[in-house]
Amino acid sequence: MNKMTTTVQQFYLLMEGKLSPALSGKYFDAINPSNGEVFAQMADADSIDVQMAVSAARLGFDHGRWPQMGMAERGEFLIKIASLIRENAKELADLECASTGKTIKHTTFIDVPTAAEAFEYFGHLPGNLVHETVRHSAPVLSTVQREPVGVVVAIIPWNYPLIMTAWKLAPALLAGNCVVLKPSPTACASVMLLAKLAAQAGLPKGVLNIISSSRPEAGQELVSSPEVDMVSFTGSTKTGEAVMALASKGIKKLTLELGGKSPNIVFADCDMEAALGGALSSIFMNQGQMCTAGSRLLVEDKIYQEFVEKLVARAQNLKIGPADNFETEFGPLVSIEHRNIVLKFIEKGKQEGAKLACGGNVPNINPKGAYLEPTIFTHVRNTMSIAQEEIFGPVLCVMPFTSADEAIHIANDTKYGLAAMVWTKDLEKANKVARRLRCGTVWVNTYGAFLNEVPFGGYKQSGFGRELGLTGFWEYTQIKHIATDQTPGGKSLVTSWF
Ligand code: NAD
Repeated sequence: MNKMTTTVQQFYLLMEGKLSPALSGKYFDAINPSNGEVFAQMADADSIDVQMAVSAARLGFDHGRWPQMGMAERGEFLIKIASLIRENAKELADLECASTGKTIKHTTFIDVPTAAEAFEYFGHLPGNLVHETVRHSAPVLSTVQREPVGVVVAIIPWNYPLIMTAWKLAPALLAGNCVVLKPSPTACASVMLLAKLAAQAGLPKGVLNIISSSRPEAGQELVSSPEVDMVSFTGSTKTGEAVMALASKGIKKLTLELGGKSPNIVFADCDMEAALGGALSSIFMNQGQMCTAGSRLLVEDKIYQEFVEKLVARAQNLKIGPADNFETEFGPLVSIEHRNIVLKFIEKGKQEGAKLACGGNVPNINPKGAYLEPTIFTHVRNTMSIAQEEIFGPVLCVMPFTSADEAIHIANDTKYGLAAMVWTKDLEKANKVARRLRCGTVWVNTYGAFLNEVPFGGYKQSGFGRELGLTGFWEYTQIKHIATDQTPGGKSLVTSWF
């Protein structure tokens, strides 16, 4: 934390509909993990800024027009934000790349368009969705409608800042809530540019507040505020536990999108090229820093050796380098601190008896960057900590299996339940296996197919609640039944009981 002294780009908080520095005037550095350089400075919200953001949302909800507007009118603001995202796509992709270390190819072709598409999908949802059913049991007319929850606090992690922001803001705002969003201080520059675009979209005062803060307490302050009605949290399972405890005070509505240790099950009758590509992408895209990373690869023993040899060869061929180069396939991790945590897991894996088939070292690219080789462990037992803990880095644990039952047993033998992959040409078998896997998403002969229409979320300690789809939209609503006796003055059974 320091006073602004350099000329790098500065980003402000979005409070009460306008951009402003933190009250203290403090900023914190945004560091590019490709080279260790400071590329931006972020306004650093203190406790007072956090309180002001929540109060602005409270006022916006209790006294503003937003909750009363029709869905179509609110949807127009979302469409406007989407078009501003598309107009500023390059700057957003550059910032997402500089803050996370995700390759520029990834941020350009996945993160920015996916964020815009989420705003477009929710922005175009038909308004009649909030009136669920109407039943006329004469003389009483019953209507059931969905209403906004109130003030929503949205907290997101550093691995997909733009997409996570869009997945939370679009449905929460469409439902008529007023929102305070807090990105992770580790990577928040793209989100604070999005805050600027949201201000340009002209959302009414207090409807959306976005605050960056280097203080670990900022999230706790938001979740604990008595002015908040709902918390929508995405992050690690450990932090999710703390958030759940804090949200219990005041009985706040809560959704938790947490960690994963997803199994990738490869049967001998798979299309090997496709399965190799899927296995590689699922653990080495975004340098393995994905909640749905296929970090446990289960390969049927008949093809185990051939599959692992081919996979190792392909992992060793990935082009590692600075994330802003379009040729780079594998950039740095998000920070040197995070890389050190991943390196400790690698050491632990070796001590536990797993064998390094490739990687495990810091490549000679830039000592100030957070680089790490794609790493594959064989001779892994599912009880080892590298097979049970979410490493959140490019570290793959490979294990053989002999039968579908055994694969399913290993796959489910984890505290997590976010996603799984199954590779086989036998779709009947795939379907049977998919039904027995205890997780929120199963991808068959594919990986990472996220659709705006389809809910995404976890089983077990991967959390509860869903993002995306109508289910994701409904998370941000509560249900009201209005029963009206339509006879003048009311003459129903209840009023004539005594
Ligand atoms: P994290 O849990 O450390 O932090 C997430 C967010 O919570 C950050 O904004 C952080 O500042 C904030 N925070 C920290 N302590 C808090 C507290 N006590 N109260 C409230 N907020 C607090 O996670 P991370 O390291 O930023 O991200 C990686 C994790 O996110 C991984 O576990 C990954 O699996 C998970 N993740 C899950 C999904 C999903 O959809 N299930 C998606 C992306 C990432």
